[in-house]
Amino acid sequence: MKIVQTPLIIGNWKMNPQSVKMAEALFKDVQKGIARVRGVDVGIAPPAVYFSGLEKLAKGKRMMLVAQDVFWENLGARTGEISAPMLKSLGVSAVIIGHSERRALGESDEDVNKKILATLKTGLDAVVCVGEKKRDTHGDYLSLVEKQVRAALAGVSKAKLSHVVIAYEPIWAIGTGNTATSSDAHEMKLFIQRVISDIYGRSVLSRIRILYGGSVNAKNAEELCTKGEVDGFLVGGASLRASEFITIIKIASK
Ligand code: PEP
Repeated sequence: MKIVQTPLIIGNWKMNPQSVKMAEALFKDVQKGIARVRGVDVGIAPPAVYFSGLEKLAKGKRMMLVAQDVFWENLGARTGEISAPMLKSLGVSAVIIGHSERRALGESDEDVNKKILATLKTGLDAVVCVGEKKRDTHGDYLSLVEKQVRAALAGVSKAKLSHVVIAYEPIWAIGTGNTATSSDAHEMKLFIQRVISDIYGRSVLSRIRILYGGSVNAKNAEELCTKGEVDGFLVGGASLRASEFITIIKIASK
C-alpha cells in the first residue's frame, strides 16, 4: 500500500543569517513566493533569537516556526538552554531534535529521547533526525539508523505519533553536495517504516512523515520526491536562498 501524505518542507537556517533584519527579509521573501502554493506544509527553523520578530510575520500565514533544538526540562539552572514551553510561547510549532551537528557535540540517543518526550508533552511536533556517518557493505548503517529510531521513540505513545516526523539525514550528504540517490532515500524510507511498524503496527505509518535531508537543491528535489517517494525535505544551505527554497517547495507541492 502506497501512503501519500502532505509533504513537509523545513528550512534549517542553522546559525544564519547574520542579523534580525536579514532574517526577516529572507522570511518575507519565502512567504511571498509561496503565498499561492497549496498542498505542502512549510516550516522555517531560524536561530532562536529571531523567533519574536518572525512570529509577527508568521501569524495567520502559512509558514510555521520550527526550533533547531530544545532542552528537556521546563525551567531552572540550565545556562544557555531553552525549554519547550518557552518555544511554544514564541509561536513555535515544531522542534528539530537530534540533528547530526548537535549529536557531534555530544548529544546521545538518550538525550534525543528526553527532548522528544518533553517536546510532545508540551504539544509541539518533534522532527527527529537520524542518519549514518558513512555507508558500509555489511549493513551496519541500517543497524545504526534502526537503533537511533528505536531509541528516539522509546516511551512515545501511539497517540502521539502524528506529532512525530522522522528526517533521514545521512551525515555524508549534509552540506557536502553528495546527495543520496533517490533509491538510497527510498530504501531508507521503507526501512524506517519497517522499524516503526515493528514497534507500533502498520496502521500508524500513515501518521508519520519521513523526510530526506542532505544537500537537497532545486535540481535534485524532483527526483527525490518522485522516485525517492520521501514525504518532504529538511533543507539546510538551499533554504538560505529564497528563490531556490521556493522552487523546492513548489516541486514538493506537485
Ligand atoms: C541539514 O543540515 O539539515 C541539511 C540537510 O543541510 P544541507 O541541506 O545544507 O545539506
